[in-house]
Amino acid sequence: MPYETQPPASHFIDGAYVEEKAGTEIPVIYPATGEKIATLHAATPAIVKQAITAARRAQVEWAAMTGTERGRILRRAADIMRDRNHDLSVLETFDTGKPYQETSVADATSGADALEYFGGMAATLTGEHIQLGENWVYTRREPLGVCVGIGAWNYPTQIACWKGAPALACGNAMIFKPSETTPLCALKVAEILCEAGLPAGLYNVVQGMGDVGAALVSDPRVDKVSLTGSVPTGRKVYAAAAAGIKHVTMELGGKSPLIVFDDADIDNAVGGAILGNFYSSGQVCSNGTRVFVHSAIKEKFLTRLAERLDNAVIGDPMDPATSFGPMVSERQMNIVLDYIEKGRAEGARLVTGGARIDRDGYYLQPTVFADVTDDMTIAREEIFGPVMAVLDFDDEAEVLARANDTEFGLAAGVFTRDLGRAHRVAAAFQAGTCYINTYNDAPVEAPFGGSKMSGVGRENSKAAIEHYSQLKSVFVRMDDVEAPF
Ligand code: NDP
Repeated sequence: MPYETQPPASHFIDGAYVEEKAGTEIPVIYPATGEKIATLHAATPAIVKQAITAARRAQVEWAAMTGTERGRILRRAADIMRDRNHDLSVLETFDTGKPYQETSVADATSGADALEYFGGMAATLTGEHIQLGENWVYTRREPLGVCVGIGAWNYPTQIACWKGAPALACGNAMIFKPSETTPLCALKVAEILCEAGLPAGLYNVVQGMGDVGAALVSDPRVDKVSLTGSVPTGRKVYAAAAAGIKHVTMELGGKSPLIVFDDADIDNAVGGAILGNFYSSGQVCSNGTRVFVHSAIKEKFLTRLAERLDNAVIGDPMDPATSFGPMVSERQMNIVLDYIEKGRAEGARLVTGGARIDRDGYYLQPTVFADVTDDMTIAREEIFGPVMAVLDFDDEAEVLARANDTEFGLAAGVFTRDLGRAHRVAAAFQAGTCYINTYNDAPVEAPFGGSKMSGVGRENSKAAIEHYSQLKSVFVRMDDVEAPF
């Protein structure tokens, strides 16, 4: 391996790397070759306890610092991340298999944005003063305490920062458990925060499978849980958090609609559909995987889409020219192949792709099915791979009803040149994150999250502050107390 991928130890606790080989072995596989690039160990109960103890101790002093002091450290960490963008992007590519062309602009950079944004905001967090005649109430915005972050495998650096940055800005401590599939990047985030001056114990990383996540969530010394993962995992984590009446943020899966009207700019719509289905080899929660195309332009859309997919450069993710990489794991590749088989069996028309690519690693062809109907499995279930389902429609009311006919509500998009229709459709979408003539933008300034089964709470933006802090009301009486006896 031309790059050091084996971290010094599996966990990062109380400002230092910690190893405990008694935990289950976690092999880290480079998805582009199938090679093992590191070996880590899952946390034992003793490691989980060590992390929670460190976080609880450190949080008290951190919360007592001023927002300006806390923010300065986060902003310094953002600068270090940007300086090291190349190395961090290479590591992200080894961890996930995503092409360097993507990781160099979308991962550490997005993490740095979150650290900078919430670092800048830390000094502005305040309560308010409420005058009641001569008396008054003031509110204090206080941290929650110890927050647990649990990540999915598609954006390991970004998720570690999107959860860590607002948590720390508000005066909390964070214990982050990455997905066992991509355990490397969060350790670098912890290292960088430490280097930027974050006191020991405030950002801890513990490795492990679902049982480690579950142990963290159910510990009474944990105050909040933020999960990025699938709906079935979300259900379990939400229920476990409910037992302790803990705060939660749930960023879960989706099966989002993307509607292309007949007046849309076809090339932009095709571009949006490509971004919303094939970026990160389709492993993006907010993807617009049900592409409803007006029947008048359907064949034109499909022809242009197939032409543009021919330009995808599939190959070595480390080659900056590569624009489409492998699936994260053999397991995920096989899940997606099963869905492709179901698409065929249920009568969808395969326009392009549909097979594994004959090379090392877990590569699938970008795949498009047309003539998909609402009841087909590939139109109902989240695939989390490079499989686009194109469905026909003729009428706005009809397509809106069909677009919303899903248990999910993460994202939705519309392409049209008609301004009135664009906003009408966006207003009618049952989704937390909507796009007009674009798809899958996720700047830190805007709230991100889902409605319906796709989640609870919002990440990014000022809205995230509400999910990492709580208000205390303090009543102050200046006149005499009136008691009945
Ligand atoms: P999973 O739901 O399988 O896992 C998510 C995380 O939860 C992993 O770290 C996992 O550990 C952990 N976990 C599993 N079981 C438990 C449990 N009982 N208690 C606590 N933690 C547990 O998701 P994937 O990693 O497979 O990621 C894909 C899913 O994530 C997709 O559904 C996708 O839509 C969603 N996602 C949502 C996003 C959003 O912002 N809305 C963004 C990105 C992805 P481990 O896997 O290590 O065993």
